[in-house]
Amino acid sequence: MNNYELRMTNDEFGVRPRAKQSVALTRVTRAFKNQKSKIKNCIATALVVLFASYYASADQGRGVILETPSGVNYWSDYRGVVHAHSFVSHDSEGTHEEIVAAAEQVGLDFMCMTDHPADNLVSDGLTGVHGGCLFLIGEERGLADGSMLGVHLSDLIDGGDVREMTESIHGMGGLAILGHAEGIEDFDADFDALEVYNLHYDTLLDGKERATMLRAMPQLLLGNQERALRMFQDRPDVVMEKWDRLGLERRVPGVAGNDSHQNVRFGTIQADPYPVSYHFVNTHLFIKGDLTTEKLLDAIEEGRGYICHEMYGDGFGFDFTLRHKNTKHVIAMQGEELELRDDVEFEVNLPTSRPVTLYYNGEAQGTQEGTDLVFPCDKGPGVYRVEVTTTDDMNGGRVVPWIFSNPIYIREKTAPATSDDEEDF
Ligand SMILES: [Zn+2]
Repeated sequence: MNNYELRMTNDEFGVRPRAKQSVALTRVTRAFKNQKSKIKNCIATALVVLFASYYASADQGRGVILETPSGVNYWSDYRGVVHAHSFVSHDSEGTHEEIVAAAEQVGLDFMCMTDHPADNLVSDGLTGVHGGCLFLIGEERGLADGSMLGVHLSDLIDGGDVREMTESIHGMGGLAILGHAEGIEDFDADFDALEVYNLHYDTLLDGKERATMLRAMPQLLLGNQERALRMFQDRPDVVMEKWDRLGLERRVPGVAGNDSHQNVRFGTIQADPYPVSYHFVNTHLFIKGDLTTEKLLDAIEEGRGYICHEMYGDGFGFDFTLRHKNTKHVIAMQGEELELRDDVEFEVNLPTSRPVTLYYNGEAQGTQEGTDLVFPCDKGPGVYRVEVTTTDDMNGGRVVPWIFSNPIYIREKTAPATSDDEEDF
């Protein structure tokens, strides 16, 4: 799918009842500084301030306000879990009550369940809003080299390989997400997203567990599950490399995989209680207005969001955009694909100052620290994304990954420039 134009219009300014905090005002202040010399932009900025004030007072919205060539847009930031198991799976005993309570405790907006195949997968699946969280039924079906995560299903996934399963899921109107991508080599399918981070892989399968386990075990036995799990967390290099490589050919939206089972016990100690694994990492999605199943699926498919290891701090306030150098208008959000142009630069916003590294085709291009950063877009066509690190204060200040943005894809120019949106500035 090509998104050469940012698909934005002045539209509904949805108010979200459960929203907690506003990040809009800092964004507006920055926009004002950037544009003070231009009367026209000052007027636009004043309007943004009015909108921001409205949101700050009306619902303390979690989200971003973006000025675009076509107007001012407000996007809510919803966070949730993709890849989770319940008692429907053969290897989990988690009840609906436990799952809903944990989702509410953590403050999740959505939950994409992905149970292992079972006859009661759909009949015993949770749908609708429970505890303030929107639930979708899904299935995890094993592939030869990884797993297929079908989200929003009305039946079990059919087929034997990645292509047949993708087709089966799409036939039900669901999303096909490749899980456990660390082992996958066969990407030749029209899949919708890639599980960039998998908690199960990171804590048990990626080869570092012996020494880490020795350090983590005392914490587990003391009941400090989060501190113990944090010790395992690191950057999924193997998957990141595949993600960046695949992005050269096509858009590859990334999500986090919690792979929550609540099934690891040492004696009476539950090592992976749902509240801990749900809070460990989240997928954030930018959506206009209220959250619905349709908008949720659309945002995942568009890659319009980011991955945040939420246990180190809320990600609300983060965004990564491509903007016009002069007008500062946002030209592309995360997940968008557009043709090469030389009048743009990247902007990164953060709720708290942390080191941010821009990656171009998988190679680090430099690191800056702050809450409002600008990076050049001068490497030509390719895959651009950012990673944010932080420190784990529970474990001696170890430097750890915090946020992975989705990429913005810059493609070769295929036709002469038809810049019609910026000329009047
Ligand atoms: Zn799983």
